Amino acid sequence: MNKFDEWISWFVPDSAYASPETLRLHRLFVNSCFLTAFFALGYCLMSIYMSGYYFAVAMVISIVVFLILPLLLKWGLGLVTLANVYTALIAVVYICLVYWDGGIRNANVAPWIIMLPAVAMMMQGIRASMAWLVISLIIVGGFAYFNFRGVRFAVRFDTSKDPLFNLLSLSGLVAIISLIIFISESGKRKAQKMLEEQNKALERLNIEKNNFLNIVAHDLKNPLASVRAFAEISGYEKTTPEKRTIYLQHIATSADRMFELIKNLLDVNMIESGKMGLKPVELCLNDLITNYLKQASVVALSKQINLVAQLPENRIYLQTDKARLEQILENFISNGMKYSPAGSNVKVQLSDAPAYVEICVIDAGPGISAADMEKLFKQYGVTSSVPREGENSMGLGLAIVKKIADAFGADVGCISEPGKGCNFYIRLPKQARETIS
Ligand code: ADP
Repeated sequence: MNKFDEWISWFVPDSAYASPETLRLHRLFVNSCFLTAFFALGYCLMSIYMSGYYFAVAMVISIVVFLILPLLLKWGLGLVTLANVYTALIAVVYICLVYWDGGIRNANVAPWIIMLPAVAMMMQGIRASMAWLVISLIIVGGFAYFNFRGVRFAVRFDTSKDPLFNLLSLSGLVAIISLIIFISESGKRKAQKMLEEQNKALERLNIEKNNFLNIVAHDLKNPLASVRAFAEISGYEKTTPEKRTIYLQHIATSADRMFELIKNLLDVNMIESGKMGLKPVELCLNDLITNYLKQASVVALSKQINLVAQLPENRIYLQTDKARLEQILENFISNGMKYSPAGSNVKVQLSDAPAYVEICVIDAGPGISAADMEKLFKQYGVTSSVPREGENSMGLGLAIVKKIADAFGADVGCISEPGKGCNFYIRLPKQARETIS
């Protein structure tokens, strides 16, 4: 982006407009205001040179107004209103110039009237352009009427310099109209490119959503079929009470899987629609981790994983949202248990650095390759690691972790090499935090 573009962006920030076309029109307006002010400055200098001091004063006033219009746009006035004010101002300048020029004597000031329908067309479209064309014809017709009636206006400048005035004003017309058309066209091309990019992104999103729906349908279908089958055989007369208990456990496990999937989906939806709403409270992270590991110990036992806590002697306090931090821990720890071999350790480390507090979850699983690393923390990013007990993975957990971490202003990441396990970490910034020895 060059300096001029940056300057225009100050008046019309990219982020303020969702549609590339609206952005283009707003930018065109600001560009046109500056160009016309520059054009008017040329007229002003020319008028001084030709002793046309009325012209010069009118030009200075118009320059000020042309420069105020982009500010009014920035302050929230509508584009249609401002574009009409801009065009009306050009009409007023034309009327003043023709009056001081002694009526429609020659083409000295024609550029101003020609601009009315032209700029209205570019900024507002065909209807506004037609309206301004009619207005310009009425203005020209009005002066012609006075001329026919023999009314003469006094010429208020040194006419000996007329040929020079004609030359400069007509070249000015060619220059300004060409520049505005050029800006409008190049803006159109940029807007077109942005639209194409948006379109491609939407297409990609659509493909992702379709894939995702297939995965969801597939992942819900299997546990649902299990529930259906186990519920049916539990009802058989021949089924023993022991078997019935086992079947009911299978039903509960399948229901848990479906619940987990739906919970993750709802979480993604809530976070994406900006409804996460953190509730920070003062927490002792040592206690949070110890308590969380107690809860997770039942699952760890069933998977034959040793959950190990490595906590500092200092108690580390942090202002943060308890439920969301536990959600991050849950994702890291359940992944660690899911991918690590039976009998191995999943370690949870808490440590203190000058600018942040770090929680790491280290496992002894298959690790992640550099190529797969790119997929981590992205929605539906599933790597080649296979869960030990054939559990499902949709690549939602870490995407949720990333979104929560972003809301915390925290860094998350993973250090890993294939075959060497994973170290998933979150670095929580230390604002409003105190360490008590
Ligand atoms: P889900 O929530 O569906 O299990 P995640 O977002 O938690 O998915 O994980 C995304 C992918 O990252 C997983 O499919 C897996 O391939 C990889 N992954 C996550 N944790 C580990 C780990 N500890 N070891 C190896 N691979 C992992």
